[in-house]
Amino acid sequence: MIVMTPGAGEAEVEAVRERLATTGVHVVVMPGELTTAIGAIGDPEGVAELGLEGMGGVDRVVPISRPYKLASSELNHEHPTVLDIDGRIVGGGETFCLIAGPCTVESREQTLGVARAVKAAGASMLRGGAFKPRTSPFAFKGLGPEALEILAEARAETGLPVVTELLDSQHAEAVHAHADVVQIGARNMQNYALLEVAGKLGKPVLLKRGLSSSLDELLQAADYILKEGNEAVILCERGIRTFETATRFTLDLGAVPWLKLHTHLPVIVDPSHAAGDRRLVEALARGAAAVGADGIIVEVHDEPEQAMCDGPQQLRTRDFPRFAAEVLAHAALAGRRPSTA
Ligand code: PEP
Ligand code: MN
Repeated sequence: MIVMTPGAGEAEVEAVRERLATTGVHVVVMPGELTTAIGAIGDPEGVAELGLEGMGGVDRVVPISRPYKLASSELNHEHPTVLDIDGRIVGGGETFCLIAGPCTVESREQTLGVARAVKAAGASMLRGGAFKPRTSPFAFKGLGPEALEILAEARAETGLPVVTELLDSQHAEAVHAHADVVQIGARNMQNYALLEVAGKLGKPVLLKRGLSSSLDELLQAADYILKEGNEAVILCERGIRTFETATRFTLDLGAVPWLKLHTHLPVIVDPSHAAGDRRLVEALARGAAAVGADGIIVEVHDEPEQAMCDGPQQLRTRDFPRFAAEVLAHAALAGRRPSTA
């Protein structure tokens, strides 16, 4: 990373960029309030040979030691990334984002009902799967385009931005047209071609940690999106595979403060998929608020017993207002206000 002096002008930045371009490294210019930093990702020895320290306007050249580059807090030299999604602030440490909705869009009535209820209880955004990744190819895979239309209607009525998963690049256009936040599911965290497609869509991306992925791998996956010029990436800890099988996955709450140290990106937690049991979701959500998460994403259903997917972990709609109040109270203890428009 090349840090420019506070007084460096555009021509000096451009001269550095041009010299870097001769080596074939990936160059990202990051203007800050005080100084501009230039990320040069590629062969470090080639960059060292350029003699950048001697160029006009260059303050210092700082090597980035981590395997992840664009996601690294070493690179974003001034501030954490703060996203404004239709007035909902995600990241930056002052807000707590409550994303809620059904696991899967099953019908218009179901989705609109849940959307109205979560909105009334203070949710920041609506979640809902249109294209579902399922372990068995014979399980319900979502309503597809019809679900996207239903989500659009819920958005129009409630004003809640919509978070929905992009499962396959062939749905990219349709998802782009309807989603405010494009989710990349845990099973696709290392689908690098899909990450590039998501990066190019130009919408905020919610990137879920792979079932057995290390945090280094999560941040390198984020780099795939960031390198497309998309700075709006939200990371999500959603539980990992361990020897423990009592819970569906083991929620790695330690990941949150670790990520806060190592990346500038916002971090949220999914207690629903981690727990696999609605009775555990509130405790884990409170924990997420306590360890400094920027928000949570939770599943809510009117009649979880009838749900087509993930019934046991979905909160009941009627329980959601109390759940939201509890979790937001814990977030307030951590100095965070609800992320609402
Ligand atoms: C989801 O959030 O709808 C989902 C399938 O979660 P994950 O990818 O974390 O399993
Ligand atoms: Mn689910």
